[in-house]
Amino acid sequence: MNTLYKLSPSDLTFLWDECQRCFYLKVVHKFNRPAMAFPKIFTLIDLMMKDFFYDLPADEISPDLPPGKVAYSSKWVYSQPISFARHDASCYIRGIFDTVLEFTDGSFAVVDFKTTKPKAEHINFYTRQLHAYAYALENPNPGKFTLSPISKMGLLCVEPVAMSRTQQGNLAYEGEVTWLECPKDDDKFLNFFDMVLEVLDSPDAPPANPKCSFCNYRDNARQTGY
Ligand code: SF4
Repeated sequence: MNTLYKLSPSDLTFLWDECQRCFYLKVVHKFNRPAMAFPKIFTLIDLMMKDFFYDLPADEISPDLPPGKVAYSSKWVYSQPISFARHDASCYIRGIFDTVLEFTDGSFAVVDFKTTKPKAEHINFYTRQLHAYAYALENPNPGKFTLSPISKMGLLCVEPVAMSRTQQGNLAYEGEVTWLECPKDDDKFLNFFDMVLEVLDSPDAPPANPKCSFCNYRDNARQTGY
């Protein structure tokens, strides 16, 4: 029987770029490297941003967006299987998106919130994650959440730039808001998946990233016997 792999949108960005060996071991063998500490404050900020923007007009995200509103927040997506004739294995996407806008023309936009200084390279880095959510929304597994068509996608970057005192006496961070739109290119995204399945179809894991301290630690432990 051909294998159907589950892929998480964030792994297509961070893990794939960092080390294809770790990606392979996680997806094919369910062998995960130790979790890295992730400051809880970023999860809290992310939740606050989603609450703040929910139901607001789309021009609160960017005046360049068409008329519409922030309509959905934190929902699971689950795609149909993605397969190619030249690969035995196939895969599907499963994950939770940040936010989706609904435009008055009936189309939608996938948005990811980032607490960061906006940089042009963020567009290329996060484009696979945004495409994965868009693909799963437009091509859902039967019975799963769906929105279509997805006409836009992008990042809402909030960079803390100042601090002020509120009327209640609390301190508030002030953030500069920048909208980075990621061009939607479905063909390029499917070509990327073709490449991912080529790696997953291989009987052996790709080489490790020589700069990774985890694998260096494991090698040192083997060599020293500790
Ligand atoms: S080098 Fe090793 S531990 Fe580091 S990311 Fe790759 S497989 Fe994982």
